[in-house]
Amino acid sequence: MSPEPMVDVLVIGAGPAGAMAAALSRRRGLSVRVLEKTQFPRFSIGESMLPQSLVLLEQAGMLEAVERAGFQYKDGAQIVRGERKVDFEFSMKTCAGYPHAYQVTRADFDHILINEAQRQGAEVRYREEITAVDVDGDSALVVSRDAQGHDTVHRARFVFDASGFGRILPRLLQLDRPADFPVRASLFMHVEDHIVDADFDRNKIRVAVHPEHEDIWYWLIPFSGGRASIGVVAEDHVLQAYPGDVSARLAALVAEEPGMKRMLRNARPLWPEAREIRGYAAAVSSLHGRHFALLGNAGEFLDPVFSSGVTIALKSAALAVPLAHRQLQGETVDWQAEFAEPLMLGVDTFKGYVQTWYEGALQTIMFSDRRPPRVYELLCSVLAGYAWDTDNPYVGRSGRRLRALAQTLRKE
Ligand SMILES: Cc1cc2nc3c(=O)[nH]c(=O)nc-3n(C[C@H](O)[C@H](O)[C@H](O)COP(=O)(O)OP(=O)(O)OC[C@H]3O[C@@H](n4cnc5c(N)ncnc54)[C@H](O)[C@@H]3O)c2cc1C
Repeated sequence: MSPEPMVDVLVIGAGPAGAMAAALSRRRGLSVRVLEKTQFPRFSIGESMLPQSLVLLEQAGMLEAVERAGFQYKDGAQIVRGERKVDFEFSMKTCAGYPHAYQVTRADFDHILINEAQRQGAEVRYREEITAVDVDGDSALVVSRDAQGHDTVHRARFVFDASGFGRILPRLLQLDRPADFPVRASLFMHVEDHIVDADFDRNKIRVAVHPEHEDIWYWLIPFSGGRASIGVVAEDHVLQAYPGDVSARLAALVAEEPGMKRMLRNARPLWPEAREIRGYAAAVSSLHGRHFALLGNAGEFLDPVFSSGVTIALKSAALAVPLAHRQLQGETVDWQAEFAEPLMLGVDTFKGYVQTWYEGALQTIMFSDRRPPRVYELLCSVLAGYAWDTDNPYVGRSGRRLRALAQTLRKE
């Protein structure tokens, strides 16, 4: 096996993190090869975008293509529990940046992004699965296997692992560490929704809390064309305790939330079977090494409740590419101080929101009539994905502040 000609940047995985890293690297004049295990378009979960992601896509020259695609416009999130309902309007955010986003079928969205990276000069090879890496030498060696079982050795000056839940480098380099969250799972389905309810706002993701269990929640993500994504998230053992196949379990859970049950009464499934994903939370001991950085889900994944995954994936690439470029030009880069810590500011923000959501404190704040208007605006900013805005006091290690506020509101 003789190696392919060396590239500056090799990207593992063609999802949002990989496409973003590829496009930004090309914009800096670096040679880029993307190796993707599947053939695009391919299904992926994670369909509700945040406004912050548009700012990032614009930096990579990809926003226009996304805007042309006709995806469902999104201007906020509606959070529902029983009779209580609160709309978080992104337009109420406190910082600069877009006040809207889109809800996307990821097969289409991800294909658009990687095509845009290709248009900017990235070489993209599908059906190439990374099976081995060696990052100990002066350059990185990466082995990929094609659909016929042929192996190719690639040499690269820098590797971005954007393999998502494939988590290639964390596995191969033993960087995995247990996540801070219990093992949760999700059941989901695409439907023709046929929703006629006047109180349903297609421009928002609807997140509904189970009427009896505040740690079980549902998403209803409208797409354009009268379709929607529906799903439920709970601890794995809770979902497994429902009888029947995946579709039967999802249907039983949907029937337990009155709003979902009512709105989806005429819905028609678009898939023969609902789908399930289990145990997705992940963390790593380090997000970088001598010739590599971990992007998106290949690094951390928290929880889907605030739709933060793609935004974090894009942000990780936006932070890492300029540093890799500097390193390739011979500069010394402090990856911990310049990549991991700035990235974790936003990740920790969402972590605090996710933890206090499941503990109940954030739900107390969200549904409280006594919540100060300024707090509503600051929450709108974070829910819009502006989780790196250090002018927002609810950014960073947000958990303690949210818990304290919830306690005050409960006492009043
Ligand atoms: C239930 C659930 C709901 C979610 N909802 C949302 C949401 O509403 N909004 C949101 O922003 N996020 C959501 N997410 C998170 C979102 O799915 C991810 O954060 C996002 O897809 C991460 O992008 P990525 O580019 O890091 O990885 P991915 O999009 O997973 O892309 C990784 C790519 O790497 C490829 N790959 C894997 N292994 C290899 C290999 N060995 N060789 C070559 N290629 C490989 C894969 O085929 C894939 O194409 C949700 C997640 C879950 C579990």
